Amino acid sequence: MTAAPPYLRYEEIRRSALADLDAYEKLTRDQAARLRLGRLRDHVAYALSASPYYSERWSAHRGTVIDHLDDIRKLPFTTKRDLREAYPFGLVAVDRREIVRYGESTGTTGSPTSSVITYEDWIRGNVAVERSVGHVFGPGDLVFVAIPYELAFASYDLDRALEQAGAGVVAVGTLSRVCPFERMVEMMWRVGPTGLVCTPSRALRLYDMLADSGRDPAEVGLRTFLYVGETCSPAKLAKIADLWGVRLSNAYGSTETNSLGLVCAAGSLHLTEDRHLFEVLDPETAEPVPDGTAGELVLTTLVSRAMPLLRYRTGDYVTVSGEPCVCGSPNRVLAHHGRVGEQLVHGGRRINKLALEEVVLSTEGTGLYWAAGITDDGLVVKVETENGDPGGLCAAVTRRVEDAFGLRPAVSPIDRAQVRRAMDRMLKPGSLGLDDLAAVS
Ligand SMILES: [Zn+2]
Repeated sequence: MTAAPPYLRYEEIRRSALADLDAYEKLTRDQAARLRLGRLRDHVAYALSASPYYSERWSAHRGTVIDHLDDIRKLPFTTKRDLREAYPFGLVAVDRREIVRYGESTGTTGSPTSSVITYEDWIRGNVAVERSVGHVFGPGDLVFVAIPYELAFASYDLDRALEQAGAGVVAVGTLSRVCPFERMVEMMWRVGPTGLVCTPSRALRLYDMLADSGRDPAEVGLRTFLYVGETCSPAKLAKIADLWGVRLSNAYGSTETNSLGLVCAAGSLHLTEDRHLFEVLDPETAEPVPDGTAGELVLTTLVSRAMPLLRYRTGDYVTVSGEPCVCGSPNRVLAHHGRVGEQLVHGGRRINKLALEEVVLSTEGTGLYWAAGITDDGLVVKVETENGDPGGLCAAVTRRVEDAFGLRPAVSPIDRAQVRRAMDRMLKPGSLGLDDLAAVS
């Protein structure tokens, strides 16, 4: 007998997922932790037996006793390298017939990794996204989704969640020849979306292109900007929100797992702790850091049937706050500071690029664009100046960077046209470096 197609169970799965979410959100933190512990115990046993990669490579860990959430530390880490070695199906714990989606990373930083989900994984995750986007989008909204659809899950996840929340969706994408930047700008002008989903850099670039063509971007009527795919300092986000005159929302995820952080009604980005166990570790020592201290986010899936992951090192540099949110969710709140490797190292000092961006762009009179790097002369910062005194502004930035990081930078004005040429060449133009500028000078 042929099994019924899984979509026939959509309503049933969605209702059950919504009920689970509602029940979970009412738990205290202790109750939520107990729920996680039960899920963790089952899921670790499941991964070690059903996932070909884990059952083979981690056979020595079968039977690991999990009495506390901290017992996860008895297990080793899963790294990006493991994912590459297991490519394409080594980490898949279900029969091929249960796979409803297969995706891959863009492969910009090495050979690709794969991700796979079952129908139930997909819908359960999607319901959580639907809840989150429903706080800022609904009937009457028309939302441009301008993130890559090719090989990805995140775009389809958001696309579908927006539709479920009652919004209209325009599947703009990013990398296609059908809808390049120029066409998207024209469409924004003519169609007038109320919502935009893309990276902060793209939102900025779209604004510039409209303004450069003599049109007032405010007339588009954009109300909400949901930024994804790129981390950004609060200073830069505030400038983008101010430019467009929009409210901000956010979603955080990874290629391998889909959503990991979703915004609540109060606008805080909460970890999806009902579906994942999160650790925050010192990236050098791999020791846990307390809430409120920045470190690398490490995740263990708790309910992923298709591709369980144990202690996966995301490479994302985050701070998790232990403070409760006014929304009452037991899930902790996350702040994302970019990639662990996104640091400028000079003279034994490490400077987080986002922390540097915050200091540079929060200096009165700076524009939106900047770049930094280390040369033989030390830390070099280039910044766009908006007031009539570039010399004074560069001196102010020099002072503030030195105060914040104890390192005296060489600061000079940036050429905006050059920045644009550099950004147009980049797949992920969030973190502009001196090399990127040099490539187009
Ligand atoms: Zn909240």
